[in-house]
Amino acid sequence: MSSDLVIVYHRQPYEEVEENGKTVLRENKSPNGIVPTLKSFFGKVEHGAWVAWKLADDANNPGWDRQIEVEDSFGSYSVSRLPLTQKQVHEFYHVTSKEAFWPILHSFKDRYNYDPVDWPNFREVNWRFAEAAAAEAAQGALVWVHDYNLWLVPGYLRQMRPDVKIAFFHHTPFPAPDMFNVLPWRKEIVESLMACDSVGFHIPRYATNFAAVVQSLMDVEITKRDKVPDDLIAEGTALTERKVPAILGGLNRDVHLSVAPVGVDVDYIQTRARVDATAQRAEELLRDLGDRKLILSVGRTDYTKGGIEQLQSFERILEDHPEFRGKVQLMHVSVSANRGMAAYGEIQSAIEEAAGRINGRFGSLDWQPITLVSRAIPFKDLVAYYRAAAIAWITPLADGMNLVAKEFIASRVDGDGVLVLSEFAGAAVELEAAVATNPFSNRSMDVAICQALDMSEPERLDRMASMQRAVRQYDLSSWGRSVENLLPHNQKSAA
Ligand code: UDP
Repeated sequence: MSSDLVIVYHRQPYEEVEENGKTVLRENKSPNGIVPTLKSFFGKVEHGAWVAWKLADDANNPGWDRQIEVEDSFGSYSVSRLPLTQKQVHEFYHVTSKEAFWPILHSFKDRYNYDPVDWPNFREVNWRFAEAAAAEAAQGALVWVHDYNLWLVPGYLRQMRPDVKIAFFHHTPFPAPDMFNVLPWRKEIVESLMACDSVGFHIPRYATNFAAVVQSLMDVEITKRDKVPDDLIAEGTALTERKVPAILGGLNRDVHLSVAPVGVDVDYIQTRARVDATAQRAEELLRDLGDRKLILSVGRTDYTKGGIEQLQSFERILEDHPEFRGKVQLMHVSVSANRGMAAYGEIQSAIEEAAGRINGRFGSLDWQPITLVSRAIPFKDLVAYYRAAAIAWITPLADGMNLVAKEFIASRVDGDGVLVLSEFAGAAVELEAAVATNPFSNRSMDVAICQALDMSEPERLDRMASMQRAVRQYDLSSWGRSVENLLPHNQKSAA
């Protein structure tokens, strides 16, 4: 019971690798992903702790230390590792979280699979995360819980430790009541979230949806903060005052809804974009491309990411616009993150099939229209592709934020490049100067990519400058400020 900040996130905050028959912990240095960002918060407190799960054959006797102290460039912090068996992980993560919650959060009712869910197991795993957090937290500490697979943690934790502050952040979209209320556990989930001091979202629309869901299930009062303009929680408005759009009252407590878009470390990415190795690699790529334009698409293999819709649009463009044949090159990076899950295997096969068909139809001896990449590209190499691309084409059907869009913009130290971005990515709220596209409309998809291909240089530079301002304004540090006022020392100084 000694940490002022306890981060509860299902993944461990480092990579475990085998070296000479021993397991060693390697720091994950990539600027992307939230792990390094979260760890940077340990610098703001005397002592921090992290709670995650780790695979064990026997959860009662895992054969490794449950509690370790880690020293890395973020300082020293403890990691509490919950032993979970393969079966528990499968049921808690792959079934309940990925087959039931994920489709609903992204508004894919057809993909929602309720039957195999083992709800008692989900409760049990969440209870154990809460117990571990309760054991770590000092009096009045901040416990910061991340993402939907830990939805029940706040409720349990509040029973165990009424003294702590609890913040919860959703890294996904949050849907409207008609969608969310499909979940049979909706009330239990919402009651748990109402045990928080702060519930966070990327964009105002998700916070508005959450408020509507709570109102549909409980008797609460919603109070808008005086300072917040009414239009803040309207769709698509600029995030000028992002702190607290609403307070949910009831249950004898106030729950603050906070809107804080996750950003990227702009300085880090720009430094990486400028190093000689990146610049040389980008030049090589451009030399190889000759007079062809590189269209870059990067994402996980997931039905939410719109990969198939994008390849179909590319096929139509090559069919309807012969002038683009031989003049464009699509690099489609689709990385499998959930190997072994049927839904993701199907998408991967469909993507491979579509790319093969398009290459077969339009390819020639010296031009293959699509380069398909299925393995993850290390970030240092990805930056070179960002720099060489004429267009980043990002077309998710639903996406909480989309960091690839922001990384592309941050890496364009030349100030050029076009971003074509789905209206259904959270990032679209900030990136108003992107070429917006609706991936549910063939026409919108085709018009957007043609507009990007034909865009004049002054317009490209103008739009990029505007997007770079936005990416810098809502960067990584601005995201972090959303919970700073809940840290113990800030509460003391505010009192
Ligand atoms: N990424 C990477 N290599 C790849 C593909 C993706 O390093 O080959 C990284 C990318 O830089 C980004 C992250 O994976 O930081 C994907 O984040 P995003 O928010 O775009 O999508 P998510 O996968 O979280 O839905």
